[in-house]
Amino acid sequence: MSEGSSKEPQKTPMVYICGECHNENEIRPRDPIRCRECGYRIMYKKRTKKLVVFDAR
Ligand SMILES: [Zn+2]
Repeated sequence: MSEGSSKEPQKTPMVYICGECHNENEIRPRDPIRCRECGYRIMYKKRTKKLVVFDAR
């Protein structure tokens, strides 16, 4: 079993807009959803403009 996968298909990180400071954050699927500027957890998807609320601790 190989855990370190080096041949993954190119996944473009999703761009989320912070609901607090409107900073653009590139969030990868495995990354925690949180603004890197202010730490806010309510993010908007840039493409869909759908409100995405993450209440993960
Ligand atoms: Zn922010």
